[in-house]
Amino acid sequence: MTIPQHEGSIETPPRAPSPVHNFGTLAVHAGAPHDPATGAVIESISLSTTFAQTSVGKPVGEYEYTRSSNPNRTNFENCIAALERARHALAFSSGSATTAVILQSLAAGSHVVSVSDVYGGTHRYFTKVASAHGVKVTFTPSIEVDIESLIKPETKLIWIETPSNPTLSLVDIRAVADIAHRSGIHVVVDNTFLSPYIQNPLEHGADIVVHSVTKYINGHSDVCMGVAAFNSPALLERLSFLQNAIGAIPSPFDCWLAHRGVKTLHLRAREASKNASAVSRALLENPHVLLVNYPGSDSHKQRKIALKQHRDGLGGGMLSFRIEGGKEAAERFCQHTRIFTLAESLGGVESLVEVPGSMTHAGIPKEQREIAGVFDDLVRISCGVEDSKDLVEDVLQAIEKTVTGAKVVNGNGH
Ligand SMILES: *Cc1c(COP(=O)(O)O)cnc(C)c1O
Repeated sequence: MTIPQHEGSIETPPRAPSPVHNFGTLAVHAGAPHDPATGAVIESISLSTTFAQTSVGKPVGEYEYTRSSNPNRTNFENCIAALERARHALAFSSGSATTAVILQSLAAGSHVVSVSDVYGGTHRYFTKVASAHGVKVTFTPSIEVDIESLIKPETKLIWIETPSNPTLSLVDIRAVADIAHRSGIHVVVDNTFLSPYIQNPLEHGADIVVHSVTKYINGHSDVCMGVAAFNSPALLERLSFLQNAIGAIPSPFDCWLAHRGVKTLHLRAREASKNASAVSRALLENPHVLLVNYPGSDSHKQRKIALKQHRDGLGGGMLSFRIEGGKEAAERFCQHTRIFTLAESLGGVESLVEVPGSMTHAGIPKEQREIAGVFDDLVRISCGVEDSKDLVEDVLQAIEKTVTGAKVVNGNGH
């Protein structure tokens, strides 16, 4: 089935009304009503799978069956809609399930244009799963330049990740959306790396914003979940139908945990950005570092886009860098850090480090990876909310040990 189009018009969908309150206030209070029966300030976890009806087809409240909707999920969705300045949000069992449902909403024979430097799992879905129901995806490393030439009559969706993973390159969302909307094509932005605190893609013309909630929104590395937010009522009808029909939904407990996590998103995102800035500065000055990718740094090649799209020009908590000494040095570096844990994932309160070429992006063929800048010596860092000084010292001592060929003791210090 097709995502409904705004036929023959370049009108963007109606916007959510400007919120009265600012981000931190919304993060704490949106979707968080007091329990009208008990006055509980924190919602209870609603485990019931079914809800009583007073007569046939007349449920007591707004709920019937938990796959279709659940109080904890609704509250979480309302909070994310407020934070992304969207009318609607729908939660899914993972970021990947969110991607899958959006791709499933396209008719067989549809065409998608995607940035090439996407999350590994998104690339896998686009190349190995979407094709099974007749949806073709074209990848481009320079979407702002190529988009017009890549649009075909059957193109229905543009997929953007900004910043991209793991090279942190940026896309001018407005530039792409203006061209896509002329042909009635929807633009999706994966906003996982920045979180709604730093960037609100709908404000820049995107039609759908998606997140792996697993990362910054939950922020404590203990929930796997996804969410999509948008303004169009037609998208709400189509995607909520699929949310229920496919059933890739999060549990009430996960919704409750993620909702608790998001209440401190603004505090965590500010601190992670501060830490990533400090680490990127230290890396830029280090003679054993070949290149630093950090959109918060003035040396970033697309810094202008960051200043336009990111709150206060913040760079977020993610950065990557190339280390002298190739793949082996990158891998050794990750074993020499003491505070940064060698692990996949990102966006938690604890700092992580990984080598995309051998870990998160190993599934992408080497030549294709390198075109996108994912070399074997690239290290990706997710800064948590520890103290900047400790993180900087940890990175510097790990580089020192890597270049002097120090023995790895106990790997990663954990
Ligand atoms: C992790 C991630 C995903 C997938 O999310 P899951 O919750 O792991 O399924 C999608 N996009 C980006 C940018 C991610 O980092």
